Amino acid sequence: MSAIDCNVYPDLFFATKPGLVARAKKLCAGCPIQTECQEWGRTEEYGVWGGTSARDRRRTQAGGTNGPTLSDRLDAQILTARNRKQRVA
Ligand code: SF4
Repeated sequence: MSAIDCNVYPDLFFATKPGLVARAKKLCAGCPIQTECQEWGRTEEYGVWGGTSARDRRRTQAGGTNGPTLSDRLDAQILTARNRKQRVA
């Protein structure tokens, strides 16, 4: 993939749904300017830049932990609850 992807699909790179953010991050993996882009986007509040999400950057700026953030854990709990609800329905 390349830098063209984020120009062609800008909405994907500013999506907030976890699945779409993950897809954008995957596209960045093959981009020839990923390192530079990550540096450019280091202080950006929104979007995927150089394979990092806004959440990744906040986590890094907050002192960087490799474990899930509270927000990550809440997202996981919401998904689990939704899956249980769908199984019951
Ligand atoms: S690394 Fe940057 S320039 Fe490359 S696809 Fe990702 S967001 Fe676009």
